[in-house]
Amino acid sequence: MKMNDNRRPSAPKRTTQYNTIKIRLYPNQEQEELFQRTFGCCRYIWNRMLADHERFYYETDAHFIPTPAKYKTEAPFLKEVDHQALTQEYNKLSQAFRNFFRNPASFGYPKFKRKKDDRDSFSACNQVMGNSATIYITQDAVRMTKAGLVRAKFPRRPRSGWKLTRITVERTKTGKYYGYLLFACPVHAPEPVKPTADTTIGLKYSLTHFYVRDDGITADPPRWLRQSQDKVSSIQEKLNRMQPGSRNYREMVQKYRLLHEHIANQRRDFLHKESRRIANDWDAVCIRDDSLKAISEELGGSDIHDTGFGMFREMLRYKLDRQGKQLLEVGRFDPTTKVCSVCGAINETLSPKARHWVCPVCGAEHKRGKNAAVNIKAHGLACYQNKQVAEAVS
Ligand SMILES: [Zn+2]
Repeated sequence: MKMNDNRRPSAPKRTTQYNTIKIRLYPNQEQEELFQRTFGCCRYIWNRMLADHERFYYETDAHFIPTPAKYKTEAPFLKEVDHQALTQEYNKLSQAFRNFFRNPASFGYPKFKRKKDDRDSFSACNQVMGNSATIYITQDAVRMTKAGLVRAKFPRRPRSGWKLTRITVERTKTGKYYGYLLFACPVHAPEPVKPTADTTIGLKYSLTHFYVRDDGITADPPRWLRQSQDKVSSIQEKLNRMQPGSRNYREMVQKYRLLHEHIANQRRDFLHKESRRIANDWDAVCIRDDSLKAISEELGGSDIHDTGFGMFREMLRYKLDRQGKQLLEVGRFDPTTKVCSVCGAINETLSPKARHWVCPVCGAEHKRGKNAAVNIKAHGLACYQNKQVAEAVS
């Protein structure tokens, strides 16, 4: 450990935080057409780069992604859209490959994008030179390359000192446009908080309760979420009885999409509030690094089952981090469910369906979720303390 023998209190460290402001965009017809073309070009360039990467790898055994500029002669329509959007696709593809090679279990091999199951979106970085910038905001609009001034509604404004670095434009399935403005914000680095057993909480993901805490408290998803999901089933039934392609069918599909959007908003709102509450109340949160994709696939892969726990974990991570607190992750293959939290014995015969069980060694009675949460907390804290000791020694 380094000792600071400087008598004066050291100035707080400066760091950069990133904040996003989501705005509603109201493009005119011309701008809307340009956005649509940009979505298409981004998919096109992604697929071309991915295909050429594969071919190149097959022929030479080396990894190489050609830059978007290379395709402009044979596909002149690419010149009509913001070049920055294509560059971003190049960056995203490179990142996707880096993620895949570093951690193939969590990140799949990059896939080709098809219009019908891809999100309509593109991103562009702000190029700032002196006093001029390619992207900037006015009172009621965003100025973008090629599109010009796009009318917008701002739920809040950036604070002074925030620098606009990137915009992502997205079209929802119901035809609304949103912009995500990413700002780089200079802040003082928070003082690191040292967690203790009393100020740390363990959370176990639960399909029925969203999560179970180590003290047994559960966060049941609000009733309205279930009510909305009942509506989803009822619309699905109606759709099954209708003639695909008919006007009624199309209207029902639009209704279905609006409902999905509504559920997504409700869920995000719930996740933000839950993660904010926990990040403020506790100094550290222990959680298991579950592969939620694997869990969802085991359960049939329906997106209705997607309770947003992955999103919740990321929200927790940054909300804790901004207060100098920690998210302590326990490996996905560390035994937590089958271990008795009282005596440490492993119960290999525990059925995956058992909600309650009795430890065959010490006789302790366990609720499945709570017991796992206790183990997750103990394991997370132990790893943290070991790391502290190792850092102090080195
Ligand atoms: Zn036991």
